[in-house]
Amino acid sequence: MKAPRVSPVSRISLGLTSLMLMLLLILDFAGLVPDYLRIAREVRQRSSQAIAIQTAALLASNDPMILARAYADFRAGDPDVLSLAFRLNDGQIYVAVGEHARHWVAPHDEQSVLDQVHMPIFANRQPWGQVEIAFQPILPNTVLGWLRYPTVVLMLVLGLSAYFGFYLYMRRALQYLDPTTAVPERVRHAFDTLTDGIAIVDRERRLMLTNKTFNALHPAAALSPIGRPINEHAWLCECFGTDPEALPWERAMRENRAQAGIICDLQQPAGDPLKLIVQASPIVDPKGVARGCLISFDNVTEVHRINEELRQTLVELEASREQIRQQNMELHQLASRDPLTGCLNRRAFFEMLEGLFISSRKQAKNLCCIMCDIDHFKRFNDRYGHAVGDEVIRALVRTLQAGLRQHDLLCRYGGEEFCIILPETTVAQAAEIAARLRLEVELHAGSSVRTTEGLQITSSFGLAGLAADMRDPAELIDRADSALYQSKEGGRNRVTVWQA
Ligand code: GH3
Ligand code: MG
Ligand code: MG
Repeated sequence: MKAPRVSPVSRISLGLTSLMLMLLLILDFAGLVPDYLRIAREVRQRSSQAIAIQTAALLASNDPMILARAYADFRAGDPDVLSLAFRLNDGQIYVAVGEHARHWVAPHDEQSVLDQVHMPIFANRQPWGQVEIAFQPILPNTVLGWLRYPTVVLMLVLGLSAYFGFYLYMRRALQYLDPTTAVPERVRHAFDTLTDGIAIVDRERRLMLTNKTFNALHPAAALSPIGRPINEHAWLCECFGTDPEALPWERAMRENRAQAGIICDLQQPAGDPLKLIVQASPIVDPKGVARGCLISFDNVTEVHRINEELRQTLVELEASREQIRQQNMELHQLASRDPLTGCLNRRAFFEMLEGLFISSRKQAKNLCCIMCDIDHFKRFNDRYGHAVGDEVIRALVRTLQAGLRQHDLLCRYGGEEFCIILPETTVAQAAEIAARLRLEVELHAGSSVRTTEGLQITSSFGLAGLAADMRDPAELIDRADSALYQSKEGGRNRVTVWQA
């Protein structure tokens, strides 16, 4: 079992008390302290002499009763006396009071001792007998007796009161010791070399040590005297919020667990706040009880600033990448689309058709081509001008696009001539689609031109399907074109399917 830990204050008090008691003992030996034994001996000697004189006088009366009464009075007057008697020379007891036979122990060498006193009585220069007095034993013979012994009582009372006096005084005195002297100078210097700000507080949260980096964190830091509670430093505490319980060192000591990675902004009287990473680790004694706390402050303001700049640069980079993507899309649009209608231009159209033509042939899938041309388009130009002519072209495209699927191709093939490619579509289906488109144009295209009222737009269609004997896409388009020619020939505003 481990011995209970005695606090330094208790040990110092105990030492001082022992020192004081030792001094007292030395004084006692030197005779400077009143000697209880010597006083007792003198008192007993004086009373024994008095009773001896009285005995000699009373023996003359030859009346043992008178002597017995005097003895009884004497014993009643001195509680220290247990018994007394007058013994004749022949050993016979002449008079005795108290239980003399029990209390009286004849001294060995006929000499009186402190508790057993005998005095010879002479008559006519002849020894007659002796007065025997048995006193209370002066030195205790039990532990309780010793505890009541005046010198022991004095030592105990003095010792205990001195111990408590010293203890209270030392505790108070140590509290006011200069805490700056608690940390050796070379330890202080070692802490000053660290790049982290360091503050060490004791159990009462009083600052025991701060290093140079800590003092440089804020103008008020260097002014704060060591020994004052850290929680008085408003400039520091305010960056952890308003709850004093949430302070890192409070939490570390309450939970007896290190608090790491606490990021805070330390406001400055002038300039930007500092970005700090704070860590608070409890300092524990061998029993694991928190005796204080070591708080470190890592100034990451510069790293944080660079990070912020980097982050900003990344955001800008992302924005410019998006811009480039947008521009690329626009470029691609410009390169592949017709500016007036947004339809595929011939270059992009032939690129895509090439792929479709090959894959459809390979997978034996249907593919149809429809050629479409606005009827008597020149008349719109001539009657309303080119701008309206353009609107008519756009109106036709809107109508065609509304009737086509996402993956169908629509190309502005010539001025007001369009080529449509329908993948995975049979000729019959394509004919149906062409018929529907023709009707839509006839019914709605004219009214969708908002700038000019009462326009009647019609268009002619020619269509052809992919055939096994075709060598390239141009052949497919040629067939559709010749079917269109037939529609024109046949009176316009109609659909013609290519026939061999
Ligand atoms: P048809 O029914 O036989 O097709 O008669 P048409 O008048 O449509 O005859 P044609 O196809 O020969 O006419 C094409 C005209 O379209 C010639 C040209 O002036 C005009 N044109 C071509 N491109 C544009 C254009 O982008 N805008 C305008 N407004 N007119 C164009
Ligand atoms: Mg035309
Ligand atoms: Mg034409």
